[in-house]
Formats: sequence, C-alpha cells, structure tokens
Amino acid sequence: MKPFTGLIDSHFHSQAMVDKAMDVGECLTRFFAGGGELALDMAVHVRDGSAREELSERFPGVYIAAGIHPSEAGKVGGDDWILLRKQLSHPKALILGEIGLDWYRGRDNEGAQRELFRRQLSLAQELAKPVSIHNREADKELLEDLAAEAWKGPGIFHCFSSDLTLARKGLDLGFYLSFAGNVTYPSSSALREVARWAPADRLLVETDSPYLSPQGFRGQPNQPLNASITAATIAQLRGESLEEFLQQTRSNFRTLVGWAVTGLEQ
Ligand SMILES: [Zn+2]
Repeated sequence: MKPFTGLIDSHFHSQAMVDKAMDVGECLTRFFAGGGELALDMAVHVRDGSAREELSERFPGVYIAAGIHPSEAGKVGGDDWILLRKQLSHPKALILGEIGLDWYRGRDNEGAQRELFRRQLSLAQELAKPVSIHNREADKELLEDLAAEAWKGPGIFHCFSSDLTLARKGLDLGFYLSFAGNVTYPSSSALREVARWAPADRLLVETDSPYLSPQGFRGQPNQPLNASITAATIAQLRGESLEEFLQQTRSNFRTLVGWAVTGLEQ
C-alpha cells in the first residue's frame, strides 16, 4: 500500500536533472509508485521543449510549463517567442513559467529582465494561462510589474521565500504560495511562520528538483518524491495530517489550472 496519495510536485526541472546525470524516468516512476499524482516540469528556456513534451507524453501524470526564466534575459530572439507560443499550445502545457525577476547576481540587466517578465505576463493573460513566478530579492519590482500589467491571476509564487507582506499582496493578486525544501531547514523560522499562517486554499508544495533538497537530503540532488517531506513538515506546522494536507494541495492545484485547461481529469 502507498504511504499516502495525491502528492503534487508543482515545480521540478527534468532537464536540469538530466544535466546532473540523474535517471529522470526512474525518479518519476518512484514518485508515482510512492503516492505522487502529478508533477509539473518547469521550463527555463524554449530550447528543451521537445524533450520535456516527450516526457509528458510518456508519463500521464507529468504536465509541463513553458516559459523563459530571468537568467535568459537579453538572449531572447523573435524565434523564441514563436516557439514559446507553440509550446504553450501543447495539450499538457498547464502553466507559463518559470518567469520572474532575480537580483541575486546583481541588477545590471534589470531592464532586460523586467521587459522579459512583463511581456510574458501579458502573454499569459492573452492565453489565459496561470504563471509560475521566480523571485529572488525583487519583491518591490515584482509587485510594480504585476501592477503595470494589471495582473488578474491566477498564478504561483514558486519557492516562496519572502515575508508576510509579499505573501499578503500575492494572495490579493490571486497567487498561490508554493513552498519548497527550504521551509524544512531549521534556520527558516520566518518562512515556517508564513507556511503556518497561509490560507489552506492557497498552499502548494514543490521540490524545484534537482535543487533545494529538504532537510535530511541536503547536498544530494533533489527529486519529485521529496515533495512529501516538505508536505509533511508543513502539515505538522499547521497541525494537520499529511493526508489532509495532500488532499487540500491537490484540490488547490486543480482549481488553479482547471479553468485554463480542458482534458485534465478531475
Ligand atoms: Zn525552478
């Protein structure tokens, strides 16, 4: 018998796992055999679209996102936009992402990052797709750009690592807060507070595999089944059973994407 059911990993990177010489097929088989129901393979750029589409065609529970990460800012050409639209029309493409702003390595390409971000926000609204947002040290500019595009949601704040102020504003704008392995670290007490406080109907979990392994697995490449460790930590913080928490996050994810997608079994 499976130890639990209904686990959803709302954010993993199959091709970064391949780059780390991981056997993605084996990791996904382990995920589905262990109680995983759906895993969303997140894009960083458009170049690996066909490999990710093939993976989603091989595993019924693997869905994909298509989008361009801020690390690609300044390198995006006209053909990339054509490819992005095509990838978003794939029947298993649920989300536009990941997109966002990242000041971690400096702000010298701030203009290019914001232009790329805003153009994709606008595309998401045109195509009625939710977005998955990456944000590193850019809370203020993120909110400015969402306001400038008159963002109406819904979407995901992926690997939520900010404070209650951004969490509140994000919820107002229709975002779900997706927590990753860093919420399990003993040093993350402020983040754990946000996870304890967040409204039940706006919570998601993710791994960001192969990155951000949860406590106990740090230093090893991450994989989708480890979303259960993050889920168990948050359930415990909130005084809920793991089963209850997984049913809630499963229903949240389906609500988030359901309106944008036809053919997703309920
Ligand atoms: Zn990611």
